[in-house]
Amino acid sequence: MVKIPDKMKAYCPNCKKHVLMTVKQEKTTRRGGGLGKAARQAKRRRRGYGNQGRYSKKPVTQTKMASKTSRKIDLRLECPECKKKWAMNRPRAKRVEFVKIM
Ligand SMILES: [Zn+2]
Repeated sequence: MVKIPDKMKAYCPNCKKHVLMTVKQEKTTRRGGGLGKAARQAKRRRRGYGNQGRYSKKPVTQTKMASKTSRKIDLRLECPECKKKWAMNRPRAKRVEFVKIM
């Protein structure tokens, strides 16, 4: 559990000044069946015969993919004036808790 303040002062490139933004957690969307570009390329390359090593036909061991128990959470800062959302640094955590400040 990671505690994150629900409001944060940050620079808004649209308003060109620092404003007190509200922190929001964006719901993760899975594009391309949950595989990234590199993963899709590797999947394509694994077809055929005689490949070993990097482009091996053998499936990538699950242990390598499942070794991480937490995921990076997508946090956005919303500007109260122009309602635009800006990306924030993404901490690795299972769950997040918003802590009220002041
Ligand atoms: Zn703004």
